[in-house]
Amino acid sequence: MSKGLPKRSDDYSAWYNELVKRADLAENSAVRGCMVIKPYGFSIWEKMQRTLDDMFKETGHVNAYFPLFIPKSYLSKEADHVEGFAKECAVVTHYRLKNAEDGSGVVVDPEAKLEEELIVRPTSETVIWNTYKNWIQSYRDLPILCNQWANVVRWEMRTRLFLRTAEFLWQEGHTAHATKQEAIDETKLILDIYADFAEKTLGVPVIKGVKTEQERFAGAVDTYCIEALMQDGKALQAGTSHFLGQNFAKAFDVKFADKEGKLEMVWGTSWGVSTRLMGALIMAHSDDQGLVLPPQLAPIQVVIVPIFRKDEEFEKISAEADRIVKELKAKGISVKYDNRTTHKPGFKFAEWELKGVPVRIGIGPKDLEKGTVEVARRDTLTKEFVQAEGVETYVENLLAEIQENIYNKAKTYRDEHITKVDTWDEFKDVLKNKGGFISAHWDGTNETEDKIKDLTKATIRCIPLDAEDEDGVCVLTGKPSKRRVLFAKAY
Ligand code: AMP
Repeated sequence: MSKGLPKRSDDYSAWYNELVKRADLAENSAVRGCMVIKPYGFSIWEKMQRTLDDMFKETGHVNAYFPLFIPKSYLSKEADHVEGFAKECAVVTHYRLKNAEDGSGVVVDPEAKLEEELIVRPTSETVIWNTYKNWIQSYRDLPILCNQWANVVRWEMRTRLFLRTAEFLWQEGHTAHATKQEAIDETKLILDIYADFAEKTLGVPVIKGVKTEQERFAGAVDTYCIEALMQDGKALQAGTSHFLGQNFAKAFDVKFADKEGKLEMVWGTSWGVSTRLMGALIMAHSDDQGLVLPPQLAPIQVVIVPIFRKDEEFEKISAEADRIVKELKAKGISVKYDNRTTHKPGFKFAEWELKGVPVRIGIGPKDLEKGTVEVARRDTLTKEFVQAEGVETYVENLLAEIQENIYNKAKTYRDEHITKVDTWDEFKDVLKNKGGFISAHWDGTNETEDKIKDLTKATIRCIPLDAEDEDGVCVLTGKPSKRRVLFAKAY
């Protein structure tokens, strides 16, 4: 099955594309940049959604739904916002087709032109703040803590399955607050939720930071982010949480009467993670054999494969497998007994390896005699014989250990790939020969940031929240700098 999967060291990008397809996660569609998420891939995304959704709800958020189409005039109301998104908008201009006069098919009916063109939402701040205007009159109406699970469209030029698509699935939270401090606290609360989710559920270590002015979300005062590192040494922005100040309240005239009856502008935040997280998951952990899934997100956590020649062996093994399935299910572990007689065990092993099932249990006639089973771990590709009696407890502990091991492995790699650099030569050298994050001083100007990007393709991923004050000089210009920022080549 996994034969022919390109090796990461040979061609990381081909390895990724092939893996996404062969592991049945997603495939390209007829429209460039749009993808079909297949059932196996979607079930991983569903698990992500469920976990995140619970985290949002536990912190007081509620779900709602806002429309797909945004009147063009809304988008224009916030100047930075429209400037940021104008270049990648899909626009609806007509609402009807008609038969072509020459019989060649259907054409757009020129008489069915919309009075006002509609934008397919690239993000929903405008339509939501236009709605909030009607929801908010007094301080009693605040805060509003809404989230929506939806699809959005950004007409990306360079696309890649999951990591950057023209249409993607995400959640977008949009909150409204009476005070600046409350909005800032919300922005940071969500950043912490994202970081927690990335580390504990995806097993991907992240750096929390704030974006530079140039990398900031169009319309935000501050953009906070989590940055992850992939196995090829490139960084990936895995989630963003924006402090919007009063920008959208001003654009849509959203005011509230405070306790004294004085009218004040509302403060806002917005935040999102997308199906890009699927890309992060794949790129951070998987190997040349295929996917490596953290148990918490694996649609199938345990697969049982029978190894037999004769029908009577198959029957006995199946009885034992059924017993183990029941025990595992009773512990809330998702398990599949792969009793297909159309495929050989070797084929099944390779297939489940490719699909990243964390634990495989093999049962053969000898095992039945000895009262054992063979337990194989996907993360380390190691195997051992375990007593069949009580194997469910063993597996339960093993799943927790695998979850932790996957995270630790990614963290070790990440930590080894944060390099402090003080000269321009070193900067270029690390970028070329090692990759990863470069921690360096920057003079704080847009010009230097642009110049470094032009010269090396590396961008400032973030100013880490835990960056300490440290006097230094900019790695390119030698001008004074107060603290280090993180550079990297990024997806
Ligand atoms: P933004 O609204 O730009 O802050 O993006 C919100 C989230 O969506 C971030 O976590 C991004 O990583 C993710 N994202 C942005 N553009 C894309 C895209 N083209 N495909 C997939 N995810 C994206």
